[in-house]
Amino acid sequence: MYVGRFAPSPTGALHFGSLVAALASWLDARAAGGRWRVRIEDLDTPRIQAGAAEQILRTLGGLGLAWDGSVEYQSRRLALYRDALERLAQRTYWCGCTRREIADSSLGLAADGAQIYPGSCRADVAPGKAPRALRLRVQGAIAFADRVQGEQRQDLEREVGDFVLYRADGMFAYQLAVVVDDAEQGITDVVRGADLLDSTARQIQLQRLLGYATPRYLHIPAAVNRAGEKLSKQTGAHAIGAGGDALRRALAFLGQPQADDLAEAVRNWDPALIPARRAQAAEP
Ligand code: GLU
Repeated sequence: MYVGRFAPSPTGALHFGSLVAALASWLDARAAGGRWRVRIEDLDTPRIQAGAAEQILRTLGGLGLAWDGSVEYQSRRLALYRDALERLAQRTYWCGCTRREIADSSLGLAADGAQIYPGSCRADVAPGKAPRALRLRVQGAIAFADRVQGEQRQDLEREVGDFVLYRADGMFAYQLAVVVDDAEQGITDVVRGADLLDSTARQIQLQRLLGYATPRYLHIPAAVNRAGEKLSKQTGAHAIGAGGDALRRALAFLGQPQADDLAEAVRNWDPALIPARRAQAAEP
């Protein structure tokens, strides 16, 4: 049984970049006769905007992208993340480094722009430092096949470094929460933007350590503006309205034939037509 999901962060209204992720995962689920779930990723409280979750859900409903079951909110699932951290205790350690110290000792930048942490606190938090964040001791390389982007391989030790599972601001990290939720919700297929392709190896390592199955992955190109920036509220992406041609533009972006309605788009759905690119301009 196929179970897909859309997992927006409620940092603003649905924009074209999040719409194409929602549409692709919805079409893939419906074409497979599967279920499609919505999860609101509202852990990163400083970035959350009041009312954004409701607005996203209204927009999805207005577009006809109906979901199955109840909408889950990460902020109500903290006990699950705490449990997972306990199960990972053998592989985690407290880090007392400040942002500044990490930048100064960094082994370089990872593909997603984060600093590669050199493991300074692996043995022990340096004297005089307070524990701030909990990190996972990464090991080895992870390979996986993405349904659109093809074979992927990431050497976690060299290319990512020990990453944070529990943040210095007292929040569970996205990487941990997404792995726990995808597994607990029985997600078999993750369809999302390729800005998260570089996070996938980390998530697979966590799945293995926690004894979870690994879902199939399909990463669509991330929608970027003319300056090549990922669409977001910060880069001035417009909110998707009720009317307009957003669905037609989204189908075009995904390389799919035009359709008069969603039922036809489901019948036409062909992931092989999705461009195997990491990023693509939202406006052709
Ligand atoms: N919440 C993430 C975002 O809005 C997506 C997470 C995921 O699909 O794994 O970018």
